[in-house]
Amino acid sequence: MSFDDLPRSPTGRIPQWVIDEAQGRAAGPSPWRGDAYDTSADPVGERFGARGHAAGRDGWGADGDAPTSARRRRARRSGSSVAVAVLCVLITGGFVGVWLSQLPEVSWDAVVAALSAEPVRTTDLDATGAVQPFEPPSGLEGHPPPGVEESPWPRGVPAPVDWDGTPYAFQDTQRRPDGLDVPVTFSPCRPVHYAVNTAGAPAGFVDDVAKVMRELTSATGFVFVDDGTTTESGGADRALYQPDRYGERWAPVLIQFSDEDHFARLEGDVAGVAAHRVVDDGNGLLVAVTGTVWLDTNLLERQPSGAEPVHVAVLRHELAHVLGLDHVDDATQLMSPRQSGEFTTFQSGDLYGLSLLNRGVCAPEV
Ligand SMILES: [Zn+2]
Repeated sequence: MSFDDLPRSPTGRIPQWVIDEAQGRAAGPSPWRGDAYDTSADPVGERFGARGHAAGRDGWGADGDAPTSARRRRARRSGSSVAVAVLCVLITGGFVGVWLSQLPEVSWDAVVAALSAEPVRTTDLDATGAVQPFEPPSGLEGHPPPGVEESPWPRGVPAPVDWDGTPYAFQDTQRRPDGLDVPVTFSPCRPVHYAVNTAGAPAGFVDDVAKVMRELTSATGFVFVDDGTTTESGGADRALYQPDRYGERWAPVLIQFSDEDHFARLEGDVAGVAAHRVVDDGNGLLVAVTGTVWLDTNLLERQPSGAEPVHVAVLRHELAHVLGLDHVDDATQLMSPRQSGEFTTFQSGDLYGLSLLNRGVCAPEV
């Protein structure tokens, strides 16, 4: 069963009870399971590597079947499946029972090339201090008590989308025992916390983030909670549980600027990088618990006057990755890996994909 197989109301909306029934939410809690691991080479990673964009992945999974979810990628155009170029890089998370999904390095070189000839808006260069070097992770820090802020049902409902058939894709999907394919994303039954490190960011960046989060609230039905600013500067091995800094819950999604001197994945014309971190819920299903967005400071040198700063569009794109969307081979969508600069906001396919994230699994066990 896919999402599109679910019964719909005359308006096209899928009643919540249908979703709930399809997702079998009656399952009770089960113990955390994170002490087994599988270091076998992942052929998916090797295939990506052949495309020149990735390294192999060592899966540190609590379930040997879990990495196969990365192989199921979906895209739709006018109702039919189409192949999608996959540029994901999957690297070891380094935590027992947890692995990091390193998402595509976004070039958007056409945007940069088009805008580099534009006058620089000096106000956008009023960055709030230098980029910080990354802190070392705090080690195997365990995990928070299960079910923090988890409610029995999704916290919100996505806004209706007048989908025009343009494509969307998920990084990972997973099949529940009842046969329903669902995207791998955060639990829609708890808030998604985020924090902003303003070091190296332009003036007004916190407001930019809030603006995009409002858009995502509407598009996904997720509840986003602003944890304020943070001094954390995290690399790819950022600790996902930092109770001293954030309390006894998963660390918030971290949004920060960086540069290629501090983060090699931003080298060249890469405008941003995103990653989310997933854990096994104990039932073989994956749930994202935190994530990170790195925006390249070189974006701040390429601002068109009279238009929205470039980094806001890149932020949209990267946050959609953090939530679970993948690239699509359609230049009219924001989730295209390369943009002309014409489509800098979420488009119909993007919005439809975002709306489906609300059908991700709730996770009282994590
Ligand atoms: Zn991307």
